Amino acid sequence: MAIDGRAKKLMAEGVDVVNLSVGEPDFDTPETAKAGGRAAIDQGFTKYTAAAGVMELREAIAEKLRRENGLDYTAEEIVVNNGAKHSLFNAFMVLLDPGDEVIIQAPYWVSYPEMVKIAGGTPVIVETDASTGFELTPDMVERALTPKTKVINLNNPSNPTGVIYSRDKLEAIAEIAVRNDLVIISDEIYERLAYDGKEVVCMATLGPQVRERTITVNGFSKAFAMTGWRLGYTASPKQFAKAMTELQSHSTSGPSSITQKAALAGLRGDQSFLAGMRDEFDRRRRFAVERMRSIPGFELEVVPSGAFYVFPNITRLLGQTIGGRKVETTDDLCLTLLDAARVAIVPGSSFGSPEHVRISYATSMEKLAEGLDRIERLLTADVSKGNAVAAL
Ligand code: PLP
Repeated sequence: MAIDGRAKKLMAEGVDVVNLSVGEPDFDTPETAKAGGRAAIDQGFTKYTAAAGVMELREAIAEKLRRENGLDYTAEEIVVNNGAKHSLFNAFMVLLDPGDEVIIQAPYWVSYPEMVKIAGGTPVIVETDASTGFELTPDMVERALTPKTKVINLNNPSNPTGVIYSRDKLEAIAEIAVRNDLVIISDEIYERLAYDGKEVVCMATLGPQVRERTITVNGFSKAFAMTGWRLGYTASPKQFAKAMTELQSHSTSGPSSITQKAALAGLRGDQSFLAGMRDEFDRRRRFAVERMRSIPGFELEVVPSGAFYVFPNITRLLGQTIGGRKVETTDDLCLTLLDAARVAIVPGSSFGSPEHVRISYATSMEKLAEGLDRIERLLTADVSKGNAVAAL
């Protein structure tokens, strides 16, 4: 937040900052969805909807999950929310009693631990690193179990690492959940952004015993470039769906009627833009991965195969003087990159990983190239000044 605040302040002052910290596609919402939203307004579809969302949309989502993900849910098992963040929040709220533990892998998406705490639970952070390809292993999960463990939280593909879980790993984790009667929350919001031919295996496809304890989270923010419209959903067995609907009916009610119609039109319309967007992200990903090789002190340990982030290790820069600042932490590094190179990226500390930084390629190729050039120039300049970076 500190970096973001500073970046925005600089930009408001007219400073030319390249922002590689964003967590949303730079693409426009597809015309089909926009037209659906406009039609909803024109036709007066502007009143409350059912708390779980309009049935037509829930049916269309169930159909999408069946067709594309091999997931078998009825419309009654789908609950539509104000963004996947809201879906996750609902799930934690209905599942957790005070002291219940949730296993969360680090590096994690920033909001998971906070949501668990708000819901009265205890986040149990399990650290992963490049030695396991940033994947949670069955051993790690077993070691984190206590009598209070209630939920295993997974994010596949992952923000911030871009890692896509192998089927074997997911099966092994699911087996632990079944054996210990745990619930699995599987955040699959980046499911459509997978590269290198990697398959995203949806957790709930791994058999009836897994399906009956899994809450699948997905939404329109990333795949349909609809972050501002606010539409996410859960797919889960009826008892979970019912509890989340009740919570929602007393807190937010259903999401915007206009947004729901836009999402429905998006799902029903031509989806060829999806492949185009994915291909463009892939092109930028390859470029960013390649550029990591030439930036002094940046080490990309694991090539991301999903989402839209690269997550290099920057440990070798810690303790150095860069851009006139002694860099002791990943936060210092991001601040100095902002002040001296005018590039905003996110410190790994935000993701429970103080040895990394997250660079988003959800921005134009031109800006991405410019941002990475600026970082390289700053770090290389320090090398030529005889700074300790030269020793890298
Ligand atoms: N889950 C993950 C892993 C995310 O990265 C994000 C957004 O950045 C969300 C959920 C929330 O998405 P939404 O915009 O649908 O609330």
